[in-house]
Amino acid sequence: MFVREIRDPVAKLTGVGSVTETALARIGITTIGSLLCRYPRKWEDRTRLVPLKEFHKGPVCTIVRILAHHWFYAGKVRTLKVFIEDATARAALVCYNRPFMEKQLTIKKEYFIYGDFVFKYGEIQSNAFNYEPVTGDKTVAYIGPGRIFPIYPLTKDLRMTSVRSLVKQALGAYLPVIEDEIPKTIRERYHLLTKARALHAIHFPESMKELEKAKKSLMYEELFYLEVIIGKRAQAKRSVMRQTPAVDADMLFETETGYASALAGRKHAPGLQNMLLDRLPFSLTEGQESVIAEINADMDGPYPMARLLQGDVGSGKTLVAFLAVLKAVEKGGQSAILAPTELLARQHAENAAKLLEPLGVSVAFLTGTIPSKERNHLLRNLAAGDIDVVIGTHALFSQDVRYRELRLVVIDEQQRFGVVQRQAILAKGSASESKMPPDLLMMSATPIPRTLSITVFGDLDVSVIKGLPPGRKPITTHLARESNEDKVYEFVRARIKEGAQAYFVYPLIEEGELDLKDAVSMKERLATKVFPEYTIALTHSRLDEEQKRRTMEAFRRGDIHILVATSIVEVGVDVPNATCMIIEHAERFGLSALHQLRGRVGRGTAQSYCFLVYSDSCTEDAKTRLMVMLEHSDGFIIAEEDLKLRGPGRIDGVEQSGYIKLGLADPVEHVTILEKAREDAFAMLEADPQLMMSDHRCVAESLSRAPPFTDIVV
Ligand code: ADP
Ligand code: MG
Repeated sequence: MFVREIRDPVAKLTGVGSVTETALARIGITTIGSLLCRYPRKWEDRTRLVPLKEFHKGPVCTIVRILAHHWFYAGKVRTLKVFIEDATARAALVCYNRPFMEKQLTIKKEYFIYGDFVFKYGEIQSNAFNYEPVTGDKTVAYIGPGRIFPIYPLTKDLRMTSVRSLVKQALGAYLPVIEDEIPKTIRERYHLLTKARALHAIHFPESMKELEKAKKSLMYEELFYLEVIIGKRAQAKRSVMRQTPAVDADMLFETETGYASALAGRKHAPGLQNMLLDRLPFSLTEGQESVIAEINADMDGPYPMARLLQGDVGSGKTLVAFLAVLKAVEKGGQSAILAPTELLARQHAENAAKLLEPLGVSVAFLTGTIPSKERNHLLRNLAAGDIDVVIGTHALFSQDVRYRELRLVVIDEQQRFGVVQRQAILAKGSASESKMPPDLLMMSATPIPRTLSITVFGDLDVSVIKGLPPGRKPITTHLARESNEDKVYEFVRARIKEGAQAYFVYPLIEEGELDLKDAVSMKERLATKVFPEYTIALTHSRLDEEQKRRTMEAFRRGDIHILVATSIVEVGVDVPNATCMIIEHAERFGLSALHQLRGRVGRGTAQSYCFLVYSDSCTEDAKTRLMVMLEHSDGFIIAEEDLKLRGPGRIDGVEQSGYIKLGLADPVEHVTILEKAREDAFAMLEADPQLMMSDHRCVAESLSRAPPFTDIVV
């Protein structure tokens, strides 16, 4: 059986009572399979002895003799101190809240000690240590020198030693039946461990070398399956053809787009896209033009579109989405536009009402806060096909939302959505009348490094909108010390006097433990002390939607001069008259977040400014990072610089946002393994699409019996 198929409950293991069972369930471990798949978070190498004298070189790992017990008062608590020595030095163990240690650490006896020591009050001390009698029964616990110890994530009522012993029991009982999931030829090619050996070694490695081998084997397996799934999806995509109904020549309009319109029997005039473009006060940028051409070709093509549209903040992605919606309307289909926040969804809905409704397109807005009567009415119209485009938040995935003919799904700021959610909405299309999977357009301003986009999104087509609309002046960015903030405030005051508006952004909503400015207190201070002459409002994620909506509307109308916010304004907000962005404690934000925030200004033709205010105590490294923002305005370059400074795997909006959650592997950090795994997986699918060859049977079986990470599929 495959390890994920071991569905026996953990309660079957000796020593699991109801308390432990509940505690394990809390961290998602219910079956023995899930216990074995919960790898240690790190490993402590106790194979190397570190004597007391070298305590500063890392955790001490040594054999000591107990010299004496000594009691003292720590505040009001009578506390035990145990003096010890090894061959190199003397030290003290401070046993806070552990008076019983008097009996456990016997004078003159030898113990194995593992722990962090510091030099304090003239002695080498530790209050966080493990111990075990040197002559103790080694079978009881995995404590003792010469071993590598797994460290597991814990929770209330769950002790490290019990997790270790449960994993040990489970390995003992089930390892012999665990099947391999990697074809043998591949395993041998890279000298990977069998699944059973790798599992044993990841939990209880004999040596650091064996641990490395186990990690490599398991990472390869994860990445291999990731690529197999992507490869199969690409296969499936090629196998779905749009049904092209027989065309009655009389129904054809003269124009190209009219053809589809007539097919669908709808009375929309042809050339909706051109009608919208004619009404705009500006023309498309070259970047927008070429992306629209690609999207139109996709939507007219034989396979459903699956396109990732990347474009820097302010490059005009919304308009591209609207043009795609018009194409879907002409084809007689409905569209759904999904946005991560209600604020952004509402802004899109308002724009759609302005731009699309005059063309006869019916627009609806659906979020979790719509009253149920209105909502029911809306859902009926949607199911009847009377609504052409619905714009909303995750409320669009709700069970009861049905479409007559969903043809296009647009996901804005797609990095904000988990993969499961993307799937849920796509499934709505397949449930429509024609049973056709809808066209998918995912949009993002967070640049995804190329390696990741070709490997993780391997079956997606990627378009990039190059360039920004004309007439935009580059945003002037300044770094300012917190102690110079008065100068920044004066500068902003002058701009507001000239009619501009400003954002002030803080890392926290409310005062917290850290010594940081927060939005709530700063709103008070700015309103009463700094800018008493101006109207100031506050917005953050904990306010209710109605309040946020009213604030945003007032800000857009210009009734509010200064909007104090958290990074809630990071995505999508578009108020061209706001030309000042002040980010306080800028060192607290990732570069991509700063780039997004800065992108909120510079949206009109007036000169815009961004001030990155940093704490006086901010480190040199953090300042260097902020300098990147002065030197670059291109989001792709900023993302690359961020990657260089922070090291791989730590890119904003990639690993945290549900692109992929694997066990050990990180597709960015382990890109060399990923590339091999991809090559192998694709070669296998090419040679044996149905996975019928005996060497590939394990893959087919694993996918069908216990699919790994089902939530990966876009
Ligand atoms: P983003 O790509 O960040 O989502 P938006 O779609 O919010 O950008 O567009 C930013 C602003 O640029 C909007 O005010 C929009 O009306 C405007 N805009 C879009 N396309 C053009 C264009 N071709 N010329 C001028 N302004 C444009
Ligand atoms: Mg946008």
